[in-house]
Amino acid sequence: MCAANSEELLKREEITLENLLQGNRDFVTKTLEEDPDYFQKLSAGQKPPVLWIGCSDSRVPADKITNTMPGDIFVTRNIANVVTHSDMSMLSVLDYSVNILKIKHIIVCGHYGCGGVAAAHGNQQVGLIDNWLRNIKDVYRLNQTEVDALPENKKVDRLVELNAIHSAMNVMSTSIVQNAWANGQELSVHAWVYSLETGLINDLKFSYSKADDMDPMFKMDI
Ligand code: ZN
Repeated sequence: MCAANSEELLKREEITLENLLQGNRDFVTKTLEEDPDYFQKLSAGQKPPVLWIGCSDSRVPADKITNTMPGDIFVTRNIANVVTHSDMSMLSVLDYSVNILKIKHIIVCGHYGCGGVAAAHGNQQVGLIDNWLRNIKDVYRLNQTEVDALPENKKVDRLVELNAIHSAMNVMSTSIVQNAWANGQELSVHAWVYSLETGLINDLKFSYSKADDMDPMFKMDI
């Protein structure tokens, strides 16, 4: 989990709206000092090569942890980076990024220490979110033998990895991705996990760029 001390956390809790607006003005000043045409260029349009599907956790901002710039990554985030086929927001982001932006990579990035995955691993009732996290219970159920055999401190970490892979598989099994592949579009799907403790991303080596290798059960006739 995050190693920030209590003094640091307290300081963050004191962030006000004025802090945020001042921060924005500072950002503009600093950015224009480095490149006077920055906003003019960025406002002309976007052509990001990557779609990032991540967790809403405030400590896992896609551009910051990949050292990229605005305009580089198209992003959608939800609690525990869940991908379901009935999430209209997710499907819309996927459709727009694949068919309009023509992104080349889709990265599902989970993170160790994910509270959503930890809650799904346990049985404590949290609230309405239990219904969302129920999707991760299915990942646990499908891999229960493997997860339960691990030492206690490794179980949630492994479930985080399996959840990222499961979400990536759900991306691949959409008609959106499979039609893109059938049309010869260059597109690959990956599963990664970020470590809050080291700041490093663990590439789970789950990577697909065509439908041929995927589970035949989910491969559509096109
Ligand atoms: Zn999380």
